[in-house]
Amino acid sequence: MPELPEVEITARRLARAVEGAGVESALAPGMVALKTFDPPLDALAGGRLTGVRRIGKMLAVEAGELTLLVHLMSAGRLQLFDKRASLRDKSSRILVRLEGERELRLREFGTQQRAWAKLLRAGEVATDEDVARLGPDAHPPPPPDEFARLLDQPRHLHPLLRDQRTIAGIGRSWVDELLWTARLSPFKQGSELEDGEVEELRTACDEVLGAALDHYEQVIVDTVPDKLPMPLQVHRRAGEPCPRCGSTIEAVHFKDYVMCYCPEEQTGGRVLKDRRLSRLLK
Ligand SMILES: [Zn+2]
Repeated sequence: MPELPEVEITARRLARAVEGAGVESALAPGMVALKTFDPPLDALAGGRLTGVRRIGKMLAVEAGELTLLVHLMSAGRLQLFDKRASLRDKSSRILVRLEGERELRLREFGTQQRAWAKLLRAGEVATDEDVARLGPDAHPPPPPDEFARLLDQPRHLHPLLRDQRTIAGIGRSWVDELLWTARLSPFKQGSELEDGEVEELRTACDEVLGAALDHYEQVIVDTVPDKLPMPLQVHRRAGEPCPRCGSTIEAVHFKDYVMCYCPEEQTGGRVLKDRRLSRLLK
């Protein structure tokens, strides 16, 4: 599930590898992945890639006057290959064929088709609905005043921080790490935070996401692997000891994700009701 640090390292590595590369052709074997039709995808042919950057959790592959905006959703990957994919490869969604047999490929694992791409004119990127609705980036975090204002909402912190309109880049993995680092309950409301707690959370965004990026800079040399070595301390570690206080990390299971936290440090010792369990008992 690529979030800010994972998408950022992908953008950095791809930018280094493809800048200046000529595009021979572009096609969309997974027809549903391409959400736009004007300009047509093949308008990329004959141009050159000029950059790859991250916008929130999306990637923008730039080719002069055109930008391919890509959202990986939960199971997509944008990767560069030395050889071209067979058109029978069911994981391929978008193929951008570069000179010298290389291919920039949007792939998606699993049976669902949720990853998408849009080919936009460069001038339309900022006003695109998926870009325009984004809040400020989580890393580096906005200045303290702005950060406090963004979080001042009567909503639980876990969904609030994952809402890209509030702040961009955080998803289901890193939100657990940020709340644990700031010792905050996932069920505390944004509007109930004390000034010191807001500052703790802002520092966590800065340091935790920054450390994840530093980690990826160290371990990912050229190619971003299918599964990134995410330096997580609490997410998906239910049942293990908290790395800070030794209490058992607990989890709340939702339909399609798991929230992990340290009861000792985040919820005043209370173990939150497991939604999955309570549904079964009903
Ligand atoms: Zn703990």
